[in-house]
Amino acid sequence: MSKREETVATEECIALGAVGRQLDAYPNRDINLGALAVSRALPIRDRRLVGPWCFLDRFGPLTFNEGKPMDVAPHPHIGLQTVTWLHDGEVAHDDSLGYGSVLRPGGVNVMTSGGGIAHAEQTPRDNTGRLDGVQLWTALPDQHRHMPAAFSHVQDVPAIEYPSGIVQVFAGELERAASPAPYYSALLGADVRVHPRHELAVPLNPTYEHAILVMNGDCSLDGQPLEQRMLYYLGTARAEACFASRDGGRVLLIGGPPFPEKILMWWNFVARTPDEITQARADWEDQRRFGEVKAYDGPRLSAPTLTRFAHPNPVS
Ligand code: MN
Repeated sequence: MSKREETVATEECIALGAVGRQLDAYPNRDINLGALAVSRALPIRDRRLVGPWCFLDRFGPLTFNEGKPMDVAPHPHIGLQTVTWLHDGEVAHDDSLGYGSVLRPGGVNVMTSGGGIAHAEQTPRDNTGRLDGVQLWTALPDQHRHMPAAFSHVQDVPAIEYPSGIVQVFAGELERAASPAPYYSALLGADVRVHPRHELAVPLNPTYEHAILVMNGDCSLDGQPLEQRMLYYLGTARAEACFASRDGGRVLLIGGPPFPEKILMWWNFVARTPDEITQARADWEDQRRFGEVKAYDGPRLSAPTLTRFAHPNPVS
């Protein structure tokens, strides 16, 4: 594979120190990951983090008859966790530790990069012909960001059934449901389904900041209709989020205490200093540190050119 021409700048990412409740809407951006069109909700220009969540891509919903809509060749990560959650279809994960896993709806894949890992993500040969889901990243706090890499597959995350809906908790805790996946900051990642013509009040930790993304159907928050392809930032100081739906809706809810550290994001790296990013890029290009994804049949991705004057474009 020839070296890609694009250039990618480092971006400083900070928690803006939410002060109280707010409701700000940020349109998602269209990005192409190879042949796969994704809708990027995070990072956004003036809201880089929501708790420790620093990245959120929505892919699908789509159907296909042949080939693989998702085919992200081996690439490296540092300083973060990738969290993959599906509504429909399958994603196969293979990494340089030798883990291989096919994710299906109801489960979650959490890869902790620590100081360095490489992985590939693709539609498996044996598939339903559908794909709909998200990938998120958490920034690892300083005391954990150099830890050994790890991978965790949870087949079924806990769910809470209410008369008016269902909440699946893939990250952190909500009421009596706690995700078994390992995380290194306080956080929440939940999938909220609201039944048609029902209201569902989801309890929130008021010390967390939260954001929501309507995944499908229709949904309102505290009486205000929400649009799809829009990330709504809720701020802190909310004890609950009251969702209502006319025809049924499904919402992604993420949150956590405002992240106390300033991070630097470039390509697939979350770091603190430009030197760390330069070193990680050089290590990937010189085939050090990250290992090899032996299960992937094909060339790996090359790192883009490192420059300070372009927009970030992680490959996820
Ligand atoms: Mn990745």
